[in-house]
Amino acid sequence: MKLHHVGVAVRSLEEGIRHYESLGLRLAHREDVLSQQVKVAFMGEGPYVELLEPTSAGSPVSKFLDKKGPGQHHVAYAVPDLAAALAREMQAGRAPIDAAARPGAWGHEVAFLHPRHHGGVLIELLEERPARV
Ligand code: ZN
Repeated sequence: MKLHHVGVAVRSLEEGIRHYESLGLRLAHREDVLSQQVKVAFMGEGPYVELLEPTSAGSPVSKFLDKKGPGQHHVAYAVPDLAAALAREMQAGRAPIDAAARPGAWGHEVAFLHPRHHGGVLIELLEERPARV
C-alpha cells in the first residue's frame, strides 16, 4: 500500500492548475469524472496532487466546499488487490463508503473508506490499471 495522491477540493480547476504549476508541479492528467460530478487534474509525477472541482451542486465535493471551503479532501493509497483490501476493511467491522470497487479517474478502480473509521480522514483505495493514458 503506497501513497498515490492527495485530493484537494478547489472552486476553479484552472486556477488550481495554475497555482500548482507555480509551485513547480506539471499537469500530468485531467479528466471529467461523470459518476462523481467532478473535473479533476493530477499534478506532479507521483505521488500526485489531485485537484477536484465539482461540476454540479449535487457533487460530494460541492458539499465539502460548502461546509469546509477549499482544501485537503482525501488521501489515496494504491493497493495491489482492491477487492482484498475492501474485504479486510469489512472483516475489521468497518463499513466502507463503497462496498465494491467502481471506476475512478485515470482508468483506475477505486473505493472510498469512511472517515469516521479513520480518524476523520477520507481514504481512497485505488487499484492501478496498466492501460492508463
Ligand atoms: Zn482521489
